[in-house]
Amino acid sequence: MDFGLTDEQELLRQTAASFVARVCPPERAKQWDDEYTYPPELISGFAEMGWLGLPLAEEVGGGGGTAQEVVIIGEELGRASLDVAQCYALTLMAALVIADYGTASMKSDLLPRIIAGDRRLSIGMSEPDAGSDVAALRTTAVLDGDDFIVNGQKMWCTGAGLPNTEILAYVRTDPTAEKKHQGLSAILIDPTADGVELRQIPTLARHILGTYEVFLDDVRVSGDKLVGALNNGWHVMLGGIDFERVLISGGYVGAAQATLDEALEHAKSRHQFGRPVGEFQALTHALADLQTEIDAARLLVQRAAWLHSVGKPCGPQASMAKLKGSETYVAAARLGMQICAGTGFSTESVMSFRWRESIVAPISGGTSQIQRNAIARSLGLRGY
Ligand SMILES: Cc1cc2nc3c(=O)[nH]c(=O)nc-3n(C[C@H](O)[C@H](O)[C@H](O)COP(=O)(O)OP(=O)(O)OC[C@H]3O[C@@H](n4cnc5c(N)ncnc54)[C@H](O)[C@@H]3O)c2cc1C
Repeated sequence: MDFGLTDEQELLRQTAASFVARVCPPERAKQWDDEYTYPPELISGFAEMGWLGLPLAEEVGGGGGTAQEVVIIGEELGRASLDVAQCYALTLMAALVIADYGTASMKSDLLPRIIAGDRRLSIGMSEPDAGSDVAALRTTAVLDGDDFIVNGQKMWCTGAGLPNTEILAYVRTDPTAEKKHQGLSAILIDPTADGVELRQIPTLARHILGTYEVFLDDVRVSGDKLVGALNNGWHVMLGGIDFERVLISGGYVGAAQATLDEALEHAKSRHQFGRPVGEFQALTHALADLQTEIDAARLLVQRAAWLHSVGKPCGPQASMAKLKGSETYVAAARLGMQICAGTGFSTESVMSFRWRESIVAPISGGTSQIQRNAIARSLGLRGY
């Protein structure tokens, strides 16, 4: 059993850490969030490092890497902020779907542009009445000659308002299908097309990417924008879900670790009653417990990443990584606020930013309850 990183993986970790220090230290990530700014140097930086193609197959111009390498990058980016890690993960998640299910022209034209940082993808699963129960989605795409005519509404489309973005949207193409998860398809929608309207949703955080409501009114989408087979959208949606959970869980662990490190620094430097507040056992034990939780989360993420990278099934393990990682980030930010106390409560503090953005970790990408349901199913329980 080997719990360490290989020399190459350690080099990748160090490279990612110096990228964060140079391009997106936490204070800068907070400023981007405060100013609702998506900095071009972030995506161009990912592209220059070769990270956007890293887990894609070499045949489509990728680096042939595995979930293990991607998680290393995700953890370091998470130290900047979860939103920064998400800037990396989001397009990658959708790109992996294109690599698996896209048409030949998507693979030869779109994927190289994504790898070069010239195109981005957003994911449109959720709708006003389809959150956890995503198969209940109602947006329709009806064939009209060679095109689809799309009508409906998507919710929470992260990054949909950024330039050069397409939405990988899941739509209902066969409303007569017997079961709700049948008759769905995946298509790419251009958010600047006629009939598409976006509204940015005011949120506690996630301001770097922005999160959008997407209104679709008789939007004409060329039939060659279909991703995967017609009416096979459920399969496409689930195809990359384990990788997605593992990938973003790396970000949670990095964000939680950075939060602890920042709280620790405060605990060591802030003096009350003639000593650093970190010497009070109430805080010492809380920090020790938190580091233990973070290490447990990291090991769960690494286990799921390893299983995925050697081609073994990892559904429940990916859910455990997502559950533990996201909840640990929330716990870290809550403790960090208590330790930083008044300093943390100031919205000028990085800790207040950590706290704001941590809240979404156990919600987006499948709530903690949904992860528990998936884990329960692996125990032979109904879990719904
Ligand atoms: C900032 C942000 C970014 C997002 N980005 C995207 C994106 O890019 N693309 C996208 O498609 N979606 C995105 N989402 C949507 C996200 O995936 C959903 O918010 C999430 O799946 C939960 O859906 P909901 O918010 O509608 O909550 P609901 O599904 O309405 O759930 C409400 C509560 O009920 C619980 N619950 C529901 N069903 C069950 C059950 N069976 N068992 C136990 N408890 C249950 C939930 O856990 C939750 O606590 C984003 C959301 C946020 C907040």
